[in-house]
Amino acid sequence: MAFLQRCSRAAFLLRRGRPFPLVRQASSLMDLPETHEMLRKTCRDFADNELAPVASMLDQEARYPAKQVKGMGDLGLMALTTSEKYGGTGMDYLAYAIAMEEISRGCASTGVVLSVNNSLFLGPLEKYGSDYLKETFIGPHVDGSRVGAFALSEPGNGSDAGAASTTARDDGDCWVLNGTKAWITNGFESTAAIVFATTDKSLQHKGISAFVVPKPTEGLTLGKLEKKLGIRASSTCNLIFEDCRIPKENLLGEPGQGFKIAMTVLDAGRIGIAGQAIGIAQAAYELAVRYAQERKAFNQPIAKMQTIQNKIADMACRIESSRLLTWKAAALKDSGRPHVKAAAMAKLTASETATFVSHQAIQVLGGMGYVQEMQAERHYRDARITEIYEGTSEIQRLVIAGQVLKEQNA
Ligand SMILES: Cc1cc2nc3c(=O)[nH]c(=O)nc-3n(C[C@H](O)[C@H](O)[C@H](O)COP(=O)(O)OP(=O)(O)OC[C@H]3O[C@@H](n4cnc5c(N)ncnc54)[C@H](O)[C@@H]3O)c2cc1C
Repeated sequence: MAFLQRCSRAAFLLRRGRPFPLVRQASSLMDLPETHEMLRKTCRDFADNELAPVASMLDQEARYPAKQVKGMGDLGLMALTTSEKYGGTGMDYLAYAIAMEEISRGCASTGVVLSVNNSLFLGPLEKYGSDYLKETFIGPHVDGSRVGAFALSEPGNGSDAGAASTTARDDGDCWVLNGTKAWITNGFESTAAIVFATTDKSLQHKGISAFVVPKPTEGLTLGKLEKKLGIRASSTCNLIFEDCRIPKENLLGEPGQGFKIAMTVLDAGRIGIAGQAIGIAQAAYELAVRYAQERKAFNQPIAKMQTIQNKIADMACRIESSRLLTWKAAALKDSGRPHVKAAAMAKLTASETATFVSHQAIQVLGGMGYVQEMQAERHYRDARITEIYEGTSEIQRLVIAGQVLKEQNA
């Protein structure tokens, strides 16, 4: 490990959990606070040294990045926003957005593992969990040796999550779960999952509750590993519950609070997916700019041609504006202000930027963009999921318009 990298890592670890007075000043969004710069450098070094060199191989072999996830755990990234009290790093969402960008710049699959553990698993556990749930489930999932999952979607409903058909029946000292959860990231490796199930169907979405389900558990089986277009090194599968009994105390929050928990978690989670999208876009952009300067056509580097320069300018503008929107959403959340609209705007803009930039990058690389050797095609495939999970682009537009109209009528 390089000297500078060791220093920044040590300093970052030393400082974790301390208050970050400069964070509030980051609203200028021109300079990052020192601690966040340090985190950014640590993540960037990790991505350059540990992720980028193997990302292509992990993608092609659809191999879970266990060693890399442990490495992120050792750096304190797997529980970046979890309080120190529970063994986490105790940083804020600005830090999380930065880490998601830098890690995903190296490997988007590794990025989604980081995202699910931080914002979809540990986040709700800390916010809504009883002391028992926090003590039992947070500690084992902070250091990258174990990961958690978040199971909301079902084969019959994704965007319409309130229509959950998985049920949880009260059976004295336990809950009995039946049904299938679909598309679950970390489905294979996770050692616990937050699962949403209906406890009272007559109440529709208000009858959904959240449960912490340890894995493996009797009555829970895994579906087939999905073969995906992108983020192929992360696992995705169904969780199938057949009379799966879990202890009564594994209810997360109150009965009927599940849908609200899920929506609140996703509002914040979208900031991380925006970060992931920016990381993918940044990787594709850097590749395109480098290539344009080296590749010659008609006796000059293609970077000298105005058409290529237009592409570079459009890519740069969209990445920068996505990053600013994402940091704004994170800063709003960190300061306790409403962030639903900003997070949806950040996710929508950043994910469409990732698709746009990776598409343009392939164009800049020409034929070399189309083959695996140069990795532009991986960025293109990885980008696509950011427009789908944690709320599709259509759903983000609904959320944004809903908030705009609400503000207008207030
Ligand atoms: C790789 C991967 C990983 C995932 N990881 C997880 C996970 O860890 N946990 C989890 O719970 N889920 C996960 N998901 C599920 C993901 O969140 C859903 O796929 C997503 O929410 C969309 O749901 P759907 O696939 O059912 O599509 P649908 O909801 O059926 O939507 C189909 C189309 O209709 C549009 N549409 C739907 N409703 C509306 C509307 N009201 N207005 C306008 N357009 C609409 C959608 O935007 C989309 O274009 C994952 C999915 C994938 C592919």
